[in-house]
Amino acid sequence: MELLKERIRRDGCVKEGNVLKVDSFLNHQMDVALLDEIGKEFFRRFGGEGVNKLLTIEASGIGIAVMAARHFDNAPVVFAKKTKSKNLDGELYTTKVKSFTKGVEYDVQVAKRFLAPTDRVLILDDFLAKGQALLGLIDIVSQSGAQLVGCGIVIEKGFQDGGALLRSKGVRLESLAIVDKMDCNGIVFREA
Ligand code: 5GP
Repeated sequence: MELLKERIRRDGCVKEGNVLKVDSFLNHQMDVALLDEIGKEFFRRFGGEGVNKLLTIEASGIGIAVMAARHFDNAPVVFAKKTKSKNLDGELYTTKVKSFTKGVEYDVQVAKRFLAPTDRVLILDDFLAKGQALLGLIDIVSQSGAQLVGCGIVIEKGFQDGGALLRSKGVRLESLAIVDKMDCNGIVFREA
């Protein structure tokens, strides 16, 4: 997605530890017009698949999934929660996820009443690095018996192994921008 790549080139910032900072437009301050185009692109790729539910993980995936949902006939967005609170009641699907950015492992949960075997689920998230967040979400979908249509990622870091791991498991994974190399000299994207 050329518009996204241009924006990453312009405003993205490469940090130590293989972290790409895009907080001026994607996951802190959010450019709503760009998010709308991202949602449109996810629909172009997955629109024919009968998706009726979008699943993501808090916090950065939520804005992306909500904007995308407008293009998927206002399909409900469910986000996996990282903390248990009194608001999270009833039976839960739980799985473990190791955070790439924080380095810690934590439980994530989704209330069972929001995912059913009749659902056709598209998982969306902001980044793909080692694939732990997606593997956790896929595990939750499989516990629920719902059908996984695929995973849509805004920025895949192609030099880390998450993408290869998921594709080797037969998951339909679509990334709108794949970064093959990033350092102080700049960012190199994979050709579409
Ligand atoms: P994974 O689970 O694939 O190892 O990492 C994906 C998760 O870590 C995403 O949900 C995202 O929030 C975070 N993440 C991974 N790499 C980056 C990065 O380079 N920049 C930012 N901002 N977040 C990242």
